[in-house]
Order: sequence, then structure tokens, then C-alpha cells
Amino acid sequence: MAEPRRFFAKIGKTPSLFKNREALTEEFLPQNLPYRDREGDAIARILAPSLWKQKPSNALIYGNPGTGKTAVTRLVLCQLQDEADRLHVPLKVLYVNCNIKGIADTEYRAVREFVHALGGTLPHRGLSKTEAYELFFDLLNQRRQHIIVVFDEIDRLMRHSGTDFLYTFTRIALRRATVSLVGITNNTTVMNYVDGRIRSSLSQQQVVFSPYNATQLATILSQRMELAFQPGVVEPAAINKCAALGAQEHGDARRSLNLLRVAAETAHLEGAPSVAVQHVDRADEIISEHTVLQLIRSQPRQHTALLHCILSLCDVEKRVQTGEVYTHYAKLVSELGLRCLTPERVSNILADLDTIGLIHSHVVSRGRFGRSREISVILPEAVRKLAAEEIKTILNL
Ligand code: ADP
Ligand code: MG
Repeated sequence: MAEPRRFFAKIGKTPSLFKNREALTEEFLPQNLPYRDREGDAIARILAPSLWKQKPSNALIYGNPGTGKTAVTRLVLCQLQDEADRLHVPLKVLYVNCNIKGIADTEYRAVREFVHALGGTLPHRGLSKTEAYELFFDLLNQRRQHIIVVFDEIDRLMRHSGTDFLYTFTRIALRRATVSLVGITNNTTVMNYVDGRIRSSLSQQQVVFSPYNATQLATILSQRMELAFQPGVVEPAAINKCAALGAQEHGDARRSLNLLRVAAETAHLEGAPSVAVQHVDRADEIISEHTVLQLIRSQPRQHTALLHCILSLCDVEKRVQTGEVYTHYAKLVSELGLRCLTPERVSNILADLDTIGLIHSHVVSRGRFGRSREISVILPEAVRKLAAEEIKTILNL
């Protein structure tokens, strides 16, 4: 066991590159959000009537992931609440992030969080949805307040629980309190599934967040760097690389910040005196490995079985035909004791796997033999090996 000892001894002696590591986490809310004045002002204008005791319009905020929707909204809401407290205006913000994995009933959890925020209690389970709502409305009815209910990542709640909750929330009729709804979403098409009247009610006002470009991301990162790191430990080229990679990914500040955090952790573990471009490259690999493995772990068993077939066939050939995959698949499922799905169902699963980016499938013409679908794997070599190992473990092979 000499290795860990030597490693810890070295790490223990390495001075930390960080001044405040917290400043790079998702929860950290910077008090200054460059390039988002217009969006912040727009949200502030929508919510301002609550300060002179009028009900603000409902609003829908949308834009790509990592464009600052959550950060800007939270900051505006904090400032609004401060001002309301100062003026003794009765205002209450109920905020819920619907992006919590592994919780079966997202809608119940949202109502539960609201009830808690209003000082009530609701058990984890045991009550029906109707009972939970009754309790919630009772609490609201005791108040003479403007309530702003924020559903962050509302598309997830809609996908999970349908759109009934929107009917409920847009039609709440209370004795004294008023409720305004704010929905935040990465996905605009989701609103197409909502009844027209509800849709126009929720999107009385809209605020769109556009993607950041590389220069803007570099500024955002530099500002965060000053909070998070000792002076001079991050090389400018490393910042630019994180910015460029975030800009490639639909202008995503979250991706840039994650790259910077993981790059700094890599540099620190190496005992390097500064964060350089090579650490960002390594961070990029680590993050994509992590993402692929998480994606694989979240797949149903049939999907995993198919992935296993594709990865082993593509180990030999660059591309395989769906027919070959199916033959292999049929054999594997019988070994695993899984149900053998029809070629049509399998073809749908292949389309799923393509959509999430684990494989690439395309139709090729084979002259008089008609058309067939070819499949290839687009993961980098190292990630692919890890993926193959992970799948074997999951399937017990
Ligand atoms: P979204 O909700 O649109 O997916 P977030 O608001 O969560 O994005 O932003 C992602 C990350 O980037 C957060 O850590 C946030 O603090 C940071 N961020 C986004 N925009 C800015 C900005 N203009 N200035 C500083 N940090 C930002
Ligand atoms: Mg968000």
C-alpha cells in the first residue's frame, strides 16, 4: 500500500489552487451576471407589479441549457423579495426545480415543497394528490399575499406528470391571495402539447435567453476565476479553451464552468502549479466518459442488451447491418432470459439510441437488394472501452 501513501503525502503538500471552490458549484449564485441585463430587466418588469400590490402576469422563460435562466431568475427573485420585505409588501416566492432524478412522483414532491415553504407539513407519501392539493390551497387561503410560483425545468414535470397541474395552477381561485406562475424551460416545443387557453395563460409574457458566444463565456469564466482561484493559477489559454468548448455546446456556461472545475481538480491532483490547456482536454474526456456511463446506466435492459451487441460487432467491423445486430440480439436475450422483441421494436430502440447519441444509424442503398440500415459507434476509443465494460457488468456477462 505504498502508492496511496505517497500520493496523499504529495497531495497534502501541494498548495491548493483554490481560494473558494464553492464558487464553481452549481448552487453558487454570483451577484453579477454579465450579458444578462436585458433578460434580468425583462423578468423584473414582469414581476414588479407585485410591489404595488397588483398581480403580475404569468410568464414563460426559455432558452438552451446553461444560458443563465435559473441564475438570472433566482437573482431577480431574491432582489424582489428583499425589496418587498423592505416595503412591507406581502410577497412570497415558491420555487421548485423539477429536475430531480429518481423521484417517482414529481408533482406530489413539488406540492410538498410548496407546503413546506408555507410552513405546513406533508408526508413523503400516504396522501392522495387531491388531498395534497387541498392542504396546499388551505394554506394559501389563509394568506393575504402575492404568491409567485416558479416551476424551473417545467418541461420535466410536464413529461413526467402530464399537464393537469398547469390547469390546476392557472385556475387557482383564492379568497385573498393571488398566484402568478413562472415557468422555466429548456425546451420550447413542450408547450405545443398544452391546451391553447392554458398555453396563452402561462405565456402571457415571455423571456428568451440566447446562447453565449465564446468571448462572453471567457468573460464569465474570468469573473468566476477571480472568486474561485488564487491569483494567476489559471492560464488564459485554459480559460479560452473552456469558453470555446462551451460555445460549441450551444453556448452553455454550465459546460464551461464544469470544464474549468474538473480541469482544476485534475491539475491539483497532478500537483501542477497552474491549470493549463492539457488539463482542460483531460477534463473534457473525463466529463464525456462520465456522461456516457450515466446515460448507459439509465437505459432499460433491452436497450443495454442491444448496445452490447452493437459494441461487440463494431469491435470487428466499423459498421454493421441491422440484420446482423438482430441475429446477435436474439441469441443474447435467450442467454439472458429476456423477452425477444420483434424487429420493429428493436428498430425503434435503435432509433432511441441514435437520438441520445450513443450510436449512429443511417439508411444505405444496396442497389437491387433494396435499402438497409447501417449502425456505427461514434464514441471515442477510451470511452467505448469503458462503456463496453460497464454494459457487461450491468448484464452480468
Ligand atoms: P440554465 O438554467 O439556463 O440551464 P443556469 O442559470 O443554471 O443555466 O447557468 C448555468 C451555470 O452558469 C450556473 O452555474 C450559472 O451560475 C452560470 N452562469 C450562467 N450565466 C452566467 C452569467 N451571465 N454570469 C455568470 N455565471 C453565469
Ligand atoms: Mg436551469
